[in-house]
Amino acid sequence: MKIRNKLILSMSIMIVFIMLFLLGVTHVQFYIDRDLAYLEEKAAFESLREEFEQYYTSNGHSWDNVHAAEFVHSRFFPAIVLIANGTPVYQQGQLSADVLRNEGYKLALFADQKKVGRLFVMNDKQLKTYEFKSMWYSIVPNIAKASLLFTCIAAFLTIFFLSWRMTSPIRKIIKGINDIKKGKPAVTLPVQRKDEFGAISSALQEMNDALANAERTRKQFLSDVAHELKTPLMIIQGELELVQETGAPLSSAKQSSILDEVLRLSRLVHDVLDLSKLEAGMTDLRPGPGNLVEVLENLQQKTEFLLADKQIRFSMNIAEDCIYVSMEKNRILQALYNILTNAIHYTNHGGQIRLQAQRVYRPDLEHEYISIKIEDSGVGISEEDLPHIFNRFYRADHSRSRPSGGTGLGLAIAQQNILAHRGWIEVQSEIGKGSVFTVYLPIILG
Ligand code: ADP
Repeated sequence: MKIRNKLILSMSIMIVFIMLFLLGVTHVQFYIDRDLAYLEEKAAFESLREEFEQYYTSNGHSWDNVHAAEFVHSRFFPAIVLIANGTPVYQQGQLSADVLRNEGYKLALFADQKKVGRLFVMNDKQLKTYEFKSMWYSIVPNIAKASLLFTCIAAFLTIFFLSWRMTSPIRKIIKGINDIKKGKPAVTLPVQRKDEFGAISSALQEMNDALANAERTRKQFLSDVAHELKTPLMIIQGELELVQETGAPLSSAKQSSILDEVLRLSRLVHDVLDLSKLEAGMTDLRPGPGNLVEVLENLQQKTEFLLADKQIRFSMNIAEDCIYVSMEKNRILQALYNILTNAIHYTNHGGQIRLQAQRVYRPDLEHEYISIKIEDSGVGISEEDLPHIFNRFYRADHSRSRPSGGTGLGLAIAQQNILAHRGWIEVQSEIGKGSVFTVYLPIILG
């Protein structure tokens, strides 16, 4: 319960207790005062008693016509009632017989030592105390009612205020969601709270940011693809239009240039499709236990002519004959091929590339991995470019990469392939010295 509500509740309880206490005190006080008043005016009380007893005796032991009788000491008592045989036979003053019976001072009347009636009386002082008591008794319920009403109003206002406060973040969140639905850019949900609403809001905010980010990436990807497709298409279009305009036959150089561009287009389309499927998790990976050493030997065969072309010294160092990994061979081969062809591409003639494969135990992951390290003595990658090289279409050096025919998707595809096999790729590089790409894949134990 909130402090404010506790205060209201305890205040109301306190008011009710004070009322009850005052009622109790008034009640007790009244009887004390009544008896004290008797002691103070005892003579008058006793004289009145005697007068009534004398009347009874002199009236032939009867209360007949007592209501018409005059009693001298009755002037000191504004309220008197005489009860004989259970019924009031004499009464003076405004107070009813019942009230006096309950609240008046009782004087028992005797004749010949026999109880003949009871007098209930109040002198001025007693009457005042009684009037104060009855006034107090009549206002207390009103005060109680008022405090109850006050409590109800305060509770109602508190509930209204609290529910308004509670629904305010919900309203803000709903407004934010509606803005997101309408496609408003950069929607922020302004709920900065430490409770559940704050958690919902920040989760929604994160989701929205992630969606906005994904949307940005998708748009960027589309525009990159369009850009990449445009150049080869324009070259092909230009060559063919020239043939159409001049009627001159295509030289074999032009034909091979067009073929190059067509191949480039087809490679690009193939890579885009492949990467999209990998990223969407739509690629039907069918991994099975396979010897990685065989994949590495296959890789060497596939790249032999490229290495020879650039007279690059290549060494392959594998610690074991058999390293079993759960994999789809083609996918792992594709990833390693992309990394190794990059190494060849970015290494100058006569350079050096080393491939090393060995087991490593990662205590943090409690698993054994095979690390495949491909180290080149190439141009290296700058610190600024390093975090981005796995991004789609990212090229550290556009001018140099373009004529090479790289699609800018090679590393992105390699990374998706390795991630799909529960592995990862690490890179270290230094401009002018070369790069080291290390692929980690989990080994099948046993
Ligand atoms: P590309 O088709 O341009 O090679 P990748 O995705 O394979 O596309 O590589 C992205 C970028 O990373 C390359 O453009 C290049 O700038 C950089 N890169 C990748 N591998 C190497 C390497 N071994 N040495 C230097 N730069 C590299």
